Amino acid sequence: MENVPSDPSTPSPALSSLGSSISASPIIVAENLTKVYSSGRLKVSAVRGVSLTVQPGEFVAIVGPSGSGKSTLFYLLGGLTQATSGRVIIDGVDFATLDDGQRTRLRKHRIAFVFQKFNLLPTLSAMGNIEIAYAVSGRASGPNGQPLDLKYLDHLSELLSIQGRLDHRPSELSGGEQQRVAIARALITRPAIVLADEPTGNLDTKNSDVVLAMLRKSNRDLGQTTLMITHNPEAAAIAGRILYMRDGEIVREEKGTPHDA
Ligand code: ADP
Repeated sequence: MENVPSDPSTPSPALSSLGSSISASPIIVAENLTKVYSSGRLKVSAVRGVSLTVQPGEFVAIVGPSGSGKSTLFYLLGGLTQATSGRVIIDGVDFATLDDGQRTRLRKHRIAFVFQKFNLLPTLSAMGNIEIAYAVSGRASGPNGQPLDLKYLDHLSELLSIQGRLDHRPSELSGGEQQRVAIARALITRPAIVLADEPTGNLDTKNSDVVLAMLRKSNRDLGQTTLMITHNPEAAAIAGRILYMRDGEIVREEKGTPHDA
């Protein structure tokens, strides 16, 4: 598939504009997306005709009650599940034109997830978790493979204030530190898009504030496009744009009130 760069170190024209604020080409386009889950005779319409456009470098919050379809929308945008109808176009590439392998490759090269449950491997150190994520992304392998950029890792560790914690296993870290390691793990592959699903859902207020500030800062400093699911209006306010979901639909859109940390 010619539209999927085989070498992640060669950004497409749309991606090369990252960091230079808003480009004319959206990085995410969803057109009339639907997702119906079927189990036996039961059908659940989780996403019902969602259309949205996200520009490179934007920070968008998606807010809605439990069961409103937020996670399903993320799975669709992240290529983890296929839409029942409608289209997802990431950086100009329509997911529907890709086979499973190509979709996985596009996801690995472009998109990173941050989850509510940090999903760190318990037997590995923080550094080990970051290293394995880099290895799994495939960026180190092949003729154009790039070894883990330790300078970039230093930069991320500083940005996320986890220097000095990299030798520790997850059980030796606070929840906030674990989530910051999970964010470093997500960012080490230099994704164009970060999808964060309730990233502060398991954290107390103090740790939540730190993690949110760092997500916002990494979005600003590194230029990746960030979408964040939250049910917390205060968390959503740090986004540039807030989309409200209800019953599988986007029912309202507002500007956030981001302020620099
Ligand atoms: P949210 O993230 O806003 O809580 P979800 O996307 O998880 O919402 O769920 C939306 C709806 O889809 C809910 O009614 C949920 O029960 C249903 N749902 C989610 N995942 C599945 C699945 N794998 N199979 C069947 N129904 C599902």
